[in-house]
Amino acid sequence: MLAAISLYPELPAESLDRGFDACGEVSAPSDPFEALLARLQNEAVPFSATWEMTHVCNLACVMCYNVPLAEPELSTVEGLDLLEQLAEAGVLRITLTGGEILTRRDFFILAERARALGFALNLKTNGTLITESIADRLAALDPLQVTISLLGATDATFDAVAGSQRTLTRVLRGVQNLQMRGVHVKLNSLLLNLNLAEREEMLRLAMDLGVSYEQFFKVSAGDDGRATAMQHQLSRQEMRAVLAADETPLVARMTGPTARTCKVGLSSCLISPYGEVFPCVELRTLAGHLRRHSFADIWANAPILQQLRARHTLANLPECLVCPINTYCEGRCAGLAWKEHGDPYGGHSLACQQAQARYEQQNPGQQAPSTPLQTRLASNPAWAFQLTANQE
Ligand code: SF4
Ligand code: SF4
Repeated sequence: MLAAISLYPELPAESLDRGFDACGEVSAPSDPFEALLARLQNEAVPFSATWEMTHVCNLACVMCYNVPLAEPELSTVEGLDLLEQLAEAGVLRITLTGGEILTRRDFFILAERARALGFALNLKTNGTLITESIADRLAALDPLQVTISLLGATDATFDAVAGSQRTLTRVLRGVQNLQMRGVHVKLNSLLLNLNLAEREEMLRLAMDLGVSYEQFFKVSAGDDGRATAMQHQLSRQEMRAVLAADETPLVARMTGPTARTCKVGLSSCLISPYGEVFPCVELRTLAGHLRRHSFADIWANAPILQQLRARHTLANLPECLVCPINTYCEGRCAGLAWKEHGDPYGGHSLACQQAQARYEQQNPGQQAPSTPLQTRLASNPAWAFQLTANQE
C-alpha cells in the first residue's frame, strides 16, 4: 500500500491497517506484540488472513478493483469450513471484507463463528447498510475495528465516486450508529482527482467524529489488470502538494539489499470469494484453490508463497536496487508491479511518481531524476501499461 498520510496525532492510525495488513514495512520489533509478529513472520506462520467474503456490493465506486467471476462464491458451509481450517493453521486475526460484507445473507452466521473460534476480527464495510439493528449485531461481535471509506465531504462528491445516492449521509449514519455502541471506527480516504478538493473537509469531518483516520494515494488496477480507475489517480504535482501540506516524515523502506518493501507472503494471505488463495490483496497470483486443496497445504507448499518468502528483498528487485531515488520510495508494491508489467519483482509507475514527489518535497527546487523503470518504459512503449492519464 502506498504511504499512508498520518494526520492529526489526536487521531491514531494503526500501521497494521493500511489497506492490507502485510503492506507495512518489516520493522525492528520494539514491543512484545511487534516482537511476536516478527517471529511469526520469520517462521512463516499465517498470523492473519483477509477474506473477501463477496464481490457483491451495493455501491459502484469508480476505483473498485474487484472483478466478479462467473463461478459461485463460497457457500455458508464452505465458509464455515474455511474458518475451521484457518483456526487449525494458527491464524489469529481475520479481516472480513468485500465487495460489501453486509450484502451476504449469512454474514452474521460466519462472523459469529469466527468470533466463537477466537479470531480477532477486523471488518471492512462501506458503512451504508449499518442501521441501528445491524450496528447492534456488529457491536456484539466485538470487532477490533470497523474500517469504512470516506470518499468525500459532501454527498455530491461522495456520490460521484461511489456511483450512489446520499452516500455521505448514509455512511455517517452508519459511523454514528457504531460509535454509539462503542465500536472502534476507522475512516480511510483514498484521495482521487474527484475528491481532492475536499481533502481538508474530510480531515475536519474525521476530527469532529473523533475516529481514527488515514488518507492514501493508491489507485489499484483491476484484479484482471484493467487500468480504467487510474484516470482518477492524483498527478505527481498533486501528490507533492499533499505531502508538503502534511509534512509527514519520509518512511525509508529500501534500506539495504536485504530490506523488504512489504511483508507479502510472510504471515498473511488473501482468500477470494471463490476460495482462491492469493499472497495479498494486490498480488493475484494464485497460490491455490480451497475447493481443491486444504489451506494448510496451500500455505506450506504454494511456489509463489515460498518464492516471496525467500526472494522478496531489494537485492532481488533489479531496477529498484539501482534506482537513484530508491531511498525516497515508500510505496513500491509487488502486486501493483505485477498488475502493471506482470513482474512482482519490478517497480511500478505510481511508486515511481510518488518517490519523485517525495524527492522534490525533500529537495526544494530540484527536479527528481527518472527511475530505471521510467527510462525503460520511455525507450520501449510496448512495456507500458495503460497508465497514460494523469502523469506529468
Ligand atoms: S504486494 Fe502490495 S498490497 Fe501486497 S502486501 Fe505488498 S505492498 Fe501490500
Ligand atoms: S524504480 Fe520506482 S518502484 Fe523501484 S525503487 Fe525506484 S521509485 Fe521505487
